[in-house]
Amino acid sequence: MRILIIEDEELLANSIKSLLTKKGFEVDVAYDGETGKEYAELGIYDLIILDIMLPKMDGYEVARRLRQKRIGTPILMLTAKGELEDRITGLNSGGDYYLTKPFDIRELLACINALLRRQGAHVDEVRLGNTVLDLSSAMLVCGDNSVRLSAKEFEVMRYLFQAGGKILSKEMILTKVWGYDSDAVENHVEVYIGFLRKKLTSIGSNVRIETARRLGYYLEVSEHDSKAAN
Ligand code: CA
Repeated sequence: MRILIIEDEELLANSIKSLLTKKGFEVDVAYDGETGKEYAELGIYDLIILDIMLPKMDGYEVARRLRQKRIGTPILMLTAKGELEDRITGLNSGGDYYLTKPFDIRELLACINALLRRQGAHVDEVRLGNTVLDLSSAMLVCGDNSVRLSAKEFEVMRYLFQAGGKILSKEMILTKVWGYDSDAVENHVEVYIGFLRKKLTSIGSNVRIETARRLGYYLEVSEHDSKAAN
């Protein structure tokens, strides 16, 4: 799934990009309307996130021109203005959905989800190798096999998935999952990593939790499904 963000506020554009990249999307960003329109006309995107107030060409105009060219990609419009009038202009120009800034990131994800669901896709899952972590049901899924994770297992697994192969120290995992005030110790992390390795193996996943000695853990996709987790 490929998403185009057309937004001139670089900080916002980049934070949406990094969020969606973690969710497994391929994301491109254009920082002005004209460039955005050119990207969008390629017709390769599953969704366009479009700001209204943009340099060179505003979001309404971008949407209108895309619809004129019969580009049917769903458009999620972002704007700092919240008046009903703007909302109507936005929808008339070809936007499918309208989100007022500042918005909650969960609200944004819900909108994206709703728009993509119409096309049969999901953002409530993360993928690696042959394995999917379903974020709504806390299930690890590999082909026809699946296994449910406990709350803590799920938090550890999600953190590892979202790190995208980067090494996470035991301390980082401990802080993220158990919190600063918890009595949990690094040994808890080791125990949960052990549980997760067993569960990954049990569903035939080719995702391995590798140990970086003294540094922590990271996920890797094994080329040999039969290789035992260490
Ligand atoms: Ca703007």
